[in-house]
Amino acid sequence: MPDRLDGTVALVTGASSGIGVTTALELSRHGAAVALAARRAGRLDELAARIRNEGGTAAVIPADVSAEDQARELVERTVAELGRLDTLVNNAGLMLLGPVVGGPVEEWRRMVEVNLLGLMYCAHAALPHLLSAAQDSPRHVADLVNLSSVAGRIARNGSAAYNATKHAVVAFSEALRQEVAARHVRVSVIEPGVTETELAGHNRPEVIEQMNRRFGDIKRLQAADIAEIIGFIVTRPPHVNINELMVRPAEQEA
Ligand code: NDP
Repeated sequence: MPDRLDGTVALVTGASSGIGVTTALELSRHGAAVALAARRAGRLDELAARIRNEGGTAAVIPADVSAEDQARELVERTVAELGRLDTLVNNAGLMLLGPVVGGPVEEWRRMVEVNLLGLMYCAHAALPHLLSAAQDSPRHVADLVNLSSVAGRIARNGSAAYNATKHAVVAFSEALRQEVAARHVRVSVIEPGVTETELAGHNRPEVIEQMNRRFGDIKRLQAADIAEIIGFIVTRPPHVNINELMVRPAEQEA
């Protein structure tokens, strides 16, 4: 039986779309009150209404996680509005692919600022709260779940900058896991394969064409598949930490 998350608070970044939406719903169904963060406030309001309709508790906190002050304020507002912080799901991200040669450096900068620095800012701001939650909560555990990717383990021609950010997320997560493990903060890193969300749609048309050729019509993972896995990870008994988990569509080769 999974542990219930009643009485706990979870903050999900990138909760306006894809994996963030389904993860917020999943954690709410496990009993957590959820803080919803992203830039598109209207979408967060819709999700909050859905969660409240199901009997859950949600707070909407619009934020751009790539701005350090906004990431910090996001965490502080979560604690101010919902009372504590037990779980952070660092999910906000973007994937802009294409060759390095002649590639738009601005896209790389945005990915580093959101996928890596944004995740690190949120982790830094959240950790004091996660450490005290691990000490004073009935379960004596808190969770930090970081979204990397298969691209965080396997680099490929055509996705160098995205690979760099997601490999960095794996490295940051493992070092941090070692740092806080003894204090009962569980750090987990998830590495999904191709998942049907808005993520790929932000690319240039030629890149989208290339991705469609690569993945063809294989049946993609659904955002709910990843949410279910995140729900599984954070509801393990306190002595169990799933450090790292890669999950691909069954037909995805690499
Ligand atoms: P979506 O594009 O559907 O969602 C991305 C989310 O990130 C949105 O809610 C977006 O909200 C948010 N976001 C982007 N930039 C910022 C910012 N500066 N500040 C705050 N929020 C931001 O993508 P997915 O659900 O697929 O992606 C979620 C995570 O999963 C990402 O980290 C991605 O790299 C990872 N992943 C996805 C895979 C896939 O195939 N889909 C595979 C492997 C990993 P808004 O625009 O409103 O700010």
